[in-house]
Amino acid sequence: AEGLDVAAIREDFPILEREFNGHDLVYLDNAATSHTPDQVVDEIARYYREYNANVHRGLHQLSQEASIAYEDAHDRVAEFIGASGGREEVVFTKNTTESMNVVAYAWGLAELGPGDEVVLTEMEHHAALVTWQQICKRTGAECKYIGLTEDGQLDMDDARDTITDDTQMVSAVHVSNTLGCVNPVSDLADVAHDHDALFFVDGAQAAPNRPVDVEAIDADFYAFSGHKMCGPTGVGVLYGKEHLLEEMDPYLYGGMMIRKVTFEDSTWNDLPWKFEAGTPVIAQGIALAEAIDYLDDIGMENVKRHEERLAEYAYDRLTAMDDVDVYGPSPEQGRTGLVSFNLGDVHAHDLSSILNDYAVAIRAGDHCTQPLHDRLGVAASARASFYIYNTEAEVDKLVEAIEGARDLFA
Ligand code: PMP
Repeated sequence: AEGLDVAAIREDFPILEREFNGHDLVYLDNAATSHTPDQVVDEIARYYREYNANVHRGLHQLSQEASIAYEDAHDRVAEFIGASGGREEVVFTKNTTESMNVVAYAWGLAELGPGDEVVLTEMEHHAALVTWQQICKRTGAECKYIGLTEDGQLDMDDARDTITDDTQMVSAVHVSNTLGCVNPVSDLADVAHDHDALFFVDGAQAAPNRPVDVEAIDADFYAFSGHKMCGPTGVGVLYGKEHLLEEMDPYLYGGMMIRKVTFEDSTWNDLPWKFEAGTPVIAQGIALAEAIDYLDDIGMENVKRHEERLAEYAYDRLTAMDDVDVYGPSPEQGRTGLVSFNLGDVHAHDLSSILNDYAVAIRAGDHCTQPLHDRLGVAASARASFYIYNTEAEVDKLVEAIEGARDLFA
């Protein structure tokens, strides 16, 4: 079949029918957060209307129904990312950022010390960069960065030089939220593992847009957020290999995560509950499983092709404009779902607010990658990012709005 049935998909997202400033909404800020289809909104409402209850500890009917749905949601996520260990390998968190912090605190504080290295890439999101930077400061470990090639991709030669026997952790984005490049994560896993380092993949921009198989990558940890993939805010995922999660101490303490507590000491619950202290993200977790059903019905290979086609079209249209600078690799080199750019000397914030006059919603700023923007030599950029309901006609509207902005600033 040729492409997605975008018209049918759009019917599931009534928010896309909004109009303002005399224009139809063109929502191109999906890398920040995607919209939520009716199926997922309905699932959240159904939970609260029909079986809202706390999980794990209740013996009454509602608690049992909520527990089964919540626990099954972990299995559904495991299946989606190819984690054969099932729910034991899937921890629900608040978002990608928290997933990163769970490992940084639980594993990093215990394992890192002077002489150890954590290797990141220059394109890391602050979620990874700031977290590992600060954990390194606290432990005396050193943070190192893998650089980029001239054309804005990860420099794998530099990766092989930077990762050494002192490296304990390598953390890399699967897809860059600024450059749109797709990193060779299974090659990076090989390099990390050759040096007995662990490998953490930030999949916040990959899990929404392409099939992910954590075991084919051989990732030790893999993190992503529900709100970027048709799910609600407030739920993220931390995948970890079972033996690693088993060996790690908890990050948060409290109820639900314990087995036996005395005044003197405590022991921990089974995986994954050991890492889910307190009342967990019940409604959000159940809704994330519904979002995954929604995406799987479309087919992640189809989602990927749609994203790549829109990114290529936008790249071609934007690079055809003489005064537009586009960052990151060409579509032929591998690019997905988003395009970051600047229009001449116009500040991205100004551009974005002019585009809003056309009801075109894009991102402007540093996209939580300030050091990468320093490398690119710009303070900020504009970013258009796509999802399953976007069309080439919307990319045309983006270009028209940029042309309108250019006339205004000329
Ligand atoms: N990593 C990447 C690559 C991202 O794009 C984002 C979202 N901007 C995050 C991490 C953080 O996700 P969240 O804000 O949901 O924790």
